[in-house]
Amino acid sequence: MANTIDGPIVGIDLGTTNSVVAAVVNGKPIVLTEDGEQLLPSIVGLKQDGTLITGTVARNQLAAFPDRTIASIKRKMGTMEPVQLGEQSFTPPEISAMILRRLRDRASRVLGQPVSRAVITVPAFFDENQRQATREAGELAGLKVERIINEPTAATLVYHAGTQDCKHIVVYDLGGGTFDVSIVRMEGGVIEVLSSKGDTHLGGDDFDILLMNHVADQFQETHGIDLRADLSTKYRLLISCEQAKQKLSIEETVDITEEFIAEKDGRPLHLQTSVSREEYEEMIAPLVDRTIRCLDEALRDVRMTATQIDDLALVGGSTRTPLVARRLREEFLREPSRSVDPDLAVALGAAVQAAMLAGQRIGPVLVDVTGHTLGIEAVEEMTFSGPKMIFCPIIHRNSPLPARFEERYSKMFDEQERVEIRVFQGEHSDLSKNREIGGLTLKLATGGGGNNKILVRFDLTLDGTLKVTATQPASGKSSEVLIQNALSQFQAEDRDRAKSRLGAMFDASDELLDDADLPSKSEWRNGPSQDSSDSSDMESRYPEAVSLLQKISDLGAGIPDSDAEEIQALSEKLKKAMSEDNAVEVSSLSAELDDILFYVQ
Ligand code: AMP
Repeated sequence: MANTIDGPIVGIDLGTTNSVVAAVVNGKPIVLTEDGEQLLPSIVGLKQDGTLITGTVARNQLAAFPDRTIASIKRKMGTMEPVQLGEQSFTPPEISAMILRRLRDRASRVLGQPVSRAVITVPAFFDENQRQATREAGELAGLKVERIINEPTAATLVYHAGTQDCKHIVVYDLGGGTFDVSIVRMEGGVIEVLSSKGDTHLGGDDFDILLMNHVADQFQETHGIDLRADLSTKYRLLISCEQAKQKLSIEETVDITEEFIAEKDGRPLHLQTSVSREEYEEMIAPLVDRTIRCLDEALRDVRMTATQIDDLALVGGSTRTPLVARRLREEFLREPSRSVDPDLAVALGAAVQAAMLAGQRIGPVLVDVTGHTLGIEAVEEMTFSGPKMIFCPIIHRNSPLPARFEERYSKMFDEQERVEIRVFQGEHSDLSKNREIGGLTLKLATGGGGNNKILVRFDLTLDGTLKVTATQPASGKSSEVLIQNALSQFQAEDRDRAKSRLGAMFDASDELLDDADLPSKSEWRNGPSQDSSDSSDMESRYPEAVSLLQKISDLGAGIPDSDAEEIQALSEKLKKAMSEDNAVEVSSLSAELDDILFYVQ
C-alpha cells in the first residue's frame, strides 16, 4: 500500500455521478469497497431527523425528498453558489467534503488505519478555481490533498503502465457530468499529456435529460400533464430514464414503466412507453458529435491526425453507450480499447500516483500540463482615449508542469514609481473574457536606462500553485505573490465555521467513523481483527468476496479453460485470506478476481 510514516495515501476519483477510492496494496492498485460496492454515488442528503447520509442511501431518497438531497455538486465546484440542503445552505466544497469524508472512512475501514492523505482527480478542463475548490473540499473532509491530477492523466497511468515504446494515446472520458479528451504521449516510461480539451457540462446526465424530455413530452401530449412540473415526480422519471438508458446499451428496445406517476380527475395515471435504441441514438447524436468535435480540436492543438494515434482508451460510464464507440470507430478506423473497467480507471490511476508520491517505484513518471493560459495585463499601445490593454500570455495552455516562464516588460514612463500587475487566466486577447485570479504591486526606482526593465516570472507547480515574481533588475526591487491563496474559496473564518459545522454533522451521522472506531497501528497490518468464525459472519464481513465466490461457483463450466486455473488459484487464496481475516488481502484478491470475472462475463 502507498504507505509512509504519515499513513497511507489513497487515490480518489471525485465524480459528478459516482466517486471511487483506491489504493495500491501489495504493489497493485485496487478499489476499496464497502458492502461490495465499488462506486459511491456522489449524492448527499439529510434524513428526516437532520442527520447526514451519503451515497446509495441518499440516492434512494432523491426522488422522494429532493429538497433535502443534493446530486451532481461537481458541476458547481469553483462557484460559491449556495446550495440548499434542508433548512441550511452550504457551499459546493462543503457538499463535496461530505462525499470525500465518506470515501475517507471507507478507505480507513478497508485499510484498517486512519487515512488522512489523498490524491484527488479533476477533469483536465477544470480551471484553477475549480481545482482550488476541490482541494478545499478535501481539507474540509480531513484530508491532506497531496496532489490534484487530471482524470485522463490518471487513467493513462493505469492503461499503459510500463510501456517503453513511443506511443500516442487518446483518453476519451465521458462520465455522468463532464467530458474530457486528452492526447497523451508515452516514451521511455514517461507519460506526457500533450493536450487536453473538455466540457464541464456534458455527460450521461444530459443523455438522461434528453430521454426524460422525450418521455415527458409524449406523456403531456397524451394526458395534458407535465411530469416535470413536480420536482419529486421529475426525479422519479429521471431515475427511470437513466436505468432505461443503461439497458439501451445492451438491448435494442426498452420499456419505461412507472405506476401511479400522476393523477387526473381523481384517477391515477400510469406511465408505460417504450423507446428503441435507434430513437435514443437520434436524441443523443448531437451531444456525441460535440465530443468528437472536441477530440478533433485536441488533435489539431498538437498538429496530429487520427491515423497517428496508437490507442484510444475509453474512460467513464457513458462510454458504454454503443453510439460513442461506433462514432469513435468511424473516426479512428479501429476498435477503442477498454482493458480496464471504465468506471474505475481514474481512481486506480490516482492510487498509482499516490503510491509514486509515497516513494514506491510503480508505473511511469508523470508529466502533467496546464489546462489554461496564464498571463498578465499589459499595454498594447497608447490611444487618444488612454492605454489599450491586452492579455499577454506568460505560461501557455498545455505547457508541461511544473512550468517556469519569464517575460520582459518596460515601464510606461521614466518617473513611474509603481506598477500594478494583474494576473489572468484564459485564452482570449480581450482581457474582459478572461478570469482575473490575482495580482501584486511592484515599487519601482525612478529614472530611465536600465531602470526601465521589469521582469515578470511565473512558477506553476504540479498542484496548481502559481507564484508570480516581479523584479526591476537594475534596482534589485522585487515583489511576489502566491496565487493559490488568492484563489481560496473561503475566508479564514468562513473555513473554520464550515469545518466545525461539518464536524458536528459527521459526528452525528451513523454511517461515518469516529476516529476511536479505528484500530490501532498494531492491529491494521493484518486488517482489523474480528471474530469471524461462522459463515454468516463471513458474509456480513466480506460480502463482496462471498458474492464473488458464489458467482464463480454459478459460472462453473462456463469459465473458459484459459482462465479456469487462475480463477481457481485466486479463489483458494481468497478463501484462505478470509479465514485468516486478513481484510487487506481479501480486498486485493477480490479486486483481482473481479477484474478477471468482468472480462470472462
Ligand atoms: P461516471 O461519471 O464515470 O461514474 O459515469 C456515470 C455515467 O455513466 C452516468 O450517466 C451513468 O448513467 C452512465 N452509465 C453507466 N453505465 C452505463 C451503461 N451501461 N450505458 C450507458 N451509460 C452508462
